[in-house]
Amino acid sequence: MSDETKVILYVEDNPENRLLVRRILQAEGYQVVEAEHAHQALEIIESLHPDLVLMDINMPDMDGFTLTAKFKQIPHLRDVPIVALTANVMRGDKERTLNAGCDGYIQKPIDVDALPAQLAAYLKHNEQ
Ligand code: MN
Repeated sequence: MSDETKVILYVEDNPENRLLVRRILQAEGYQVVEAEHAHQALEIIESLHPDLVLMDINMPDMDGFTLTAKFKQIPHLRDVPIVALTANVMRGDKERTLNAGCDGYIQKPIDVDALPAQLAAYLKHNEQ
């Protein structure tokens, strides 16, 4: 693995989504680390410095808004983009993701063709 390999932490309770996103992102050359729920993510993040976090919102143990707020309190995550992945299309959800500290959000269902470019934009933006 080269030093330039970007690491993406994907927090998602749905195994089918994890499989889909892992396939897409690995094909793009990313290293994908997965957490099946929020508490696992909190454990993983103690020793992981990802380049980007892809954050599901609806999870059984803690919602992605709350987890994002916790992540943004962690010093080594302060400048790491967190992109919410949500099926919620209710009014106010965009504001809620931004208030929680998310840098943006992508709506489910996942667009297989668009996802790489969507994430690349957040990674590139963060390098400027
Ligand atoms: Mn979910």
